[in-house]
Amino acid sequence: MAGDYTETQVIVVGAGPVGLLLAGELRLSGADVVVLEKLTAPTTESRASTLHARTMEILDSRGLLERLGDIPQETVGHFGGIGLDLGLPGPYPGQWKLPQTRLEEALEQWAVELGADVRRGHEVTALTGTGDAAVAEVRGPDGTTRSFRAAYLVGCDGENSAVRRLGGFDFPGTDAGRSLLRADVEGIDIPGRRFERLEGGLAIAARRPDGVTRVMVHEFGAGPADAAPTFEEIADAWKRITGEDIGGGTPLWVNSFDDASRQAADYRKGRLFLAGDAAHQQLPIGGQSLNLGLQDAFNLGWKLAATLAGRGGEALLDSYHRERHPVGQAVQSNVRTQALLLLAGHEVDALRDVLAELTDHEDVRTHLAGAVSGLDVRYEVGTGSGPLLGLRAPLRDAVGDETGDKGGTTTFELLRSGRGLLLLAPGDDARREDLRTVAAPWSDRVRTATAVVEDGVATTGALLVRPDGHVVWADGADRDDPAGDGALTGALERWFGSARPRDAVRPAAARALRVVPSTAAAEENRRSGMDRLTGRTALVTGSSRGMGRATARRLAQEGALVAVHCNSDEAAAREVVAEVERDGGRAFAIRGELGVDGDVTDLFGALEQGLLDRTGSTDLHILVNNAGVMGGVGAADVTPEQFDRIYAVNARAPFFLIQRALRNMPDGGRIINISSGLTRFANPDEIAYAMSKGALEQLALHFAKVLGPRRITINSVAPGITRNGNPVFDIPGAVEQMAALSAFNRVGEPEDVADVVVFLATDEARWITGSFVDATGGTLLG
Ligand code: NAP
Repeated sequence: MAGDYTETQVIVVGAGPVGLLLAGELRLSGADVVVLEKLTAPTTESRASTLHARTMEILDSRGLLERLGDIPQETVGHFGGIGLDLGLPGPYPGQWKLPQTRLEEALEQWAVELGADVRRGHEVTALTGTGDAAVAEVRGPDGTTRSFRAAYLVGCDGENSAVRRLGGFDFPGTDAGRSLLRADVEGIDIPGRRFERLEGGLAIAARRPDGVTRVMVHEFGAGPADAAPTFEEIADAWKRITGEDIGGGTPLWVNSFDDASRQAADYRKGRLFLAGDAAHQQLPIGGQSLNLGLQDAFNLGWKLAATLAGRGGEALLDSYHRERHPVGQAVQSNVRTQALLLLAGHEVDALRDVLAELTDHEDVRTHLAGAVSGLDVRYEVGTGSGPLLGLRAPLRDAVGDETGDKGGTTTFELLRSGRGLLLLAPGDDARREDLRTVAAPWSDRVRTATAVVEDGVATTGALLVRPDGHVVWADGADRDDPAGDGALTGALERWFGSARPRDAVRPAAARALRVVPSTAAAEENRRSGMDRLTGRTALVTGSSRGMGRATARRLAQEGALVAVHCNSDEAAAREVVAEVERDGGRAFAIRGELGVDGDVTDLFGALEQGLLDRTGSTDLHILVNNAGVMGGVGAADVTPEQFDRIYAVNARAPFFLIQRALRNMPDGGRIINISSGLTRFANPDEIAYAMSKGALEQLALHFAKVLGPRRITINSVAPGITRNGNPVFDIPGAVEQMAALSAFNRVGEPEDVADVVVFLATDEARWITGSFVDATGGTLLG
């Protein structure tokens, strides 16, 4: 029996794709999660291998497709074995082939990077979900039992779900009438068969690129298998149906699945929830079970996290069952139809012929493709009408400039932080400003972006989109609402919780709300109005010393939460964090070498985790590309390796940091690149360095144009000789010579430059972008 217990916010039972996606979703929105998995190691069975269009969009909405590499696409799928063109408008038409093992691996990696605690070899043996906690008794890998307590527990533990059984969920439906026997076989060479209904039964054979052939067979008239089949039984059935002998092959995996169809009467019982196959059991045909389950998780994660953060409640939690149960029901009826069309005997042949004729009609094809691909899901989201309400926001290439030119950012990319979206069409500036003002008190939960919103039919002025991509408000119906767009406010409150106090979005009032320890320095800042960045987050690369350190401190004094980045000197970075905290500010240290393979990915992994832990979001408002290396070698002696290294750190890393940061940066963000006066002042010992800084300056010029529509500014700051702790600054004669270069006859102090950077990060600098800012103390005057 358990003595002590483990406490978390959400327990997810089952580390299959559904449980892992849910765990990642919870962490992305800031909820603590422990995943308990009975198996001691990830499964190596191939299981489901088809992803449909909506699932691909979901994976894109979390940046997960990059982790999955190339996924082969097929436009034509099937409905009950009748070929069906699945192509529909959207970025991922058709079906996509990915082994479940690869999906699981990527989802687990993502969830764990975000901080999910995945524990294998943990079996739930008892459960209560009443009172103020869900409590699971869990047998661990060493055989001892202990308790896990959480606010909520979700069973993602498959069709034989222990959570469903132990939680007392009703699971009504129909028993199996027919089975399909399946084997993955090595060492056989038989012709491929795509849903062939032969005289005695159905035969399917598909050879994978690795040479393994999957065979599936059903004999017409045979009842359900009452035990797991042996390979011999499958080979015998195959012989009877096709005449082919596969008995000499090596079976890698043998099983059967049947057409039992059951669905939990409730997806929620108090603190217990079900998702995926735990909530619905059907013939796993065409990957619809896996896709349905992933979409359950995507619907539930943000709702649980919002409730745990005090921004949701019973109604939001109940919307999970209300929205997903009918979707499950609809999929089950389409799967039952398909099971009949596939597995029933020749009495359905005429029906199949008629259906095949019907699918030639575009309306029928579109209807069935919508059902199979999951693109037809429309949730009941409240008042209002309009073609998009309740559907997933259908667009890609969403963000554009005021002329409607499409930029590279898609809706899916904008959703990656796990927040909602207010998409405003370019054009009517007054209307856009009105809507921005209405949504401002939710800006910590809802990003605002300029977007060309198209559904292939209509263009809509503005949309409010939930974190799962579904539209919950569309501009139009409330245009005459002079009281301030009541319908938008209603939708924001319903889906994103109460507004922050209006004053909290204005810096002056936000000052009073800060909870950081009130030191004399912070008090002084408040009195002097130095609190212009409260609520913002910043990354300053190379801020363990020199100008980066001064910049980090100054940004924090203005109220920003700062990620203090270093390459090797972690102790120095931690010391900067301590200084910030002594000043009454907030910061955290992250480490990562720039200019090497994987640098940006590693740095952002640590950064996002730090931000998530402290703000519940991965938004980054300010990026200062400060880290840099000098050369100090005359032009004749620079080696290609030295040259490449200087470029990699000073120019390449900032480019890719910006590229990556833009995924996290809300509209109105700031990017500041630290260049050097040497792009305008000759020094033969630093040609390679000056070239790299010249390249860096190009970033501001060109990115400024692209980022203008998002009100993100990007500028270069060029320091002159600045004291940075280098021993040369301890040599009076050297300092005198260096000082003489400046109009002020002194060397720069790190704070001289930091103040310029901080100014560019504030709202006061909103009208400066693409600029070169000379912070050399007049050195360039000549
Ligand atoms: P610094 O004292 O030289 O410190 C450099 C910072 O960058 C340190 O935090 C260091 O981390 C980090 N860094 C260096 N190489 C890195 C790498 N490969 N990956 C990750 N981090 C790395 O800095 P500074 O003199 O204040 O200069 C700051 C910026 O201003 C640089 O871009 C520099 O080129 C530019 N600048 C400086 C002067 C000047 O006179 N000081 C003049 C003009 C322009 P660790 O401490 O962990 O190694």
